[in-house]
Amino acid sequence: MKILVVEDEKKVASFIKRGLEEESYEVETAVDGEAGLEMALERRFDLIILDWMLPKRDGMSFLKELRDRKMATPVLMLTAKDTVEDIVVGLETGSDDYLTKPFAFAELLARVKALIRRSEMDRGAELRFADLRIDPVTHKVWRSEKEIDLTAKEYGLLEYFMRNPNQVLTRTMIADHVWDYTFDSFTNIIDVYVNYLRKKIDRDAPVKLIHTVRGVGYILKEGE
Ligand code: CA
Repeated sequence: MKILVVEDEKKVASFIKRGLEEESYEVETAVDGEAGLEMALERRFDLIILDWMLPKRDGMSFLKELRDRKMATPVLMLTAKDTVEDIVVGLETGSDDYLTKPFAFAELLARVKALIRRSEMDRGAELRFADLRIDPVTHKVWRSEKEIDLTAKEYGLLEYFMRNPNQVLTRTMIADHVWDYTFDSFTNIIDVYVNYLRKKIDRDAPVKLIHTVRGVGYILKEGE
């Protein structure tokens, strides 16, 4: 389980990091909103702990950008602003929970566990895109209600597309998320797998869903 902590107060950040590492979480930290957002968009985290008042980009703007980019990573907001209005704005912008500073570590840990558990349950829910449907629990796939057989890697690739629709996914991103590692000669393998997947998903369908973005990677979308 990987957690990103975006917090400019070094003492608070290292207090959280140390505590969570003792609980066997992997923790990375960022000291401002810009650096944090870059990390959140590039790498996959299971949870983001986000301070509200941050240099360069505040928590609110961070959260808005994250959700605009369709990143569903759960966010626990840390705030010294404990007025109801501020908390409501935060939750409406897409934070999943909040904690008012100062807080006890036990409380933070309880919230972290609850959010990760909830998001794992959501992850089990069926995903749909156009007439494509996948079940992350059984790894079954349907297009127009017709079941399609995929290998484990083809399924992993498709699930990654389905969780990031309408976004260009570079070969590096695909290698990183679906194969968990990256090196240059690997990109050919990705092309091969994308072609396998296309044959099964798109070949007999009137509307193609997996498109090549020349020189960059691939995108799951409807139409050209
Ligand atoms: Ca702060």
